[in-house]
Amino acid sequence: MNATEVQRPLRSASQRARVFSENWVKNHFNCPCCSSSLSHTPNNTIALDFICTDCSQGFELKSKLGNFGKTVVNGAYGTLVECIRAGNAPNLLLLSYSDDLDVRSLLVIPKRFFVEEIVVPRRPLGPQCRRAGWRGCNLNLSILPDAAKIECVRDFKAVDQSEIANRWRETSFMDSLSPRGQGWLAVVMGLISKLKRRDFCLDDLYRFEGEMKLLYPHNHNIRAKLRQQLQRLRDAGWIAFEGQGCYRLNY
Ligand SMILES: [Zn+2]
Repeated sequence: MNATEVQRPLRSASQRARVFSENWVKNHFNCPCCSSSLSHTPNNTIALDFICTDCSQGFELKSKLGNFGKTVVNGAYGTLVECIRAGNAPNLLLLSYSDDLDVRSLLVIPKRFFVEEIVVPRRPLGPQCRRAGWRGCNLNLSILPDAAKIECVRDFKAVDQSEIANRWRETSFMDSLSPRGQGWLAVVMGLISKLKRRDFCLDDLYRFEGEMKLLYPHNHNIRAKLRQQLQRLRDAGWIAFEGQGCYRLNY
């Protein structure tokens, strides 16, 4: 037996978990867009772990022991922003596993919601680090609406594929927009989700103007942009205009 045939034992718990979660996705997860199986991408593909064998949707897998919080650590900031601006963001899979390696939950965030607004740069690494100056990023998922987080495994039980496909289709109207347009829409849908009610008014959304200014410091007409997103959501059937600045969520 030559050296390359020797199977090395996996060294750490995190390596074992990585192998477990990758195998689980390959063997048990079907594409939410077309229900086909996924295949591994070559190891050197940036930010892409799987690709659908039929419709070619790309997926990036993040796995974690226990639940994901509002923030998910991601890779290089500049590379990811370029990727999003070019329309090449992956669909994001968030797999949470238990101590005994069972899948507790699996969320898919469609790439239409993988927008620049959720990417928060971390401080560059200091001069004492091997990769001094390198800047990573976190993903702030709390900006996103409930519709962005499609449950595929909930409480150790697989969700019906038809339910996953329905939820995937519900927001597919965003796919025709530019990455920037998707960003604005994702943010405004996130604000509507935060209201946690079906009926709301323009004034309810204007109360978030301060938060919006932090996200869009160079935009001086936040209110007009907000109204434009509401029109888009109405045209897509996501909300209905009830008159006098009032709206109703259809989903
Ligand atoms: Zn597919």
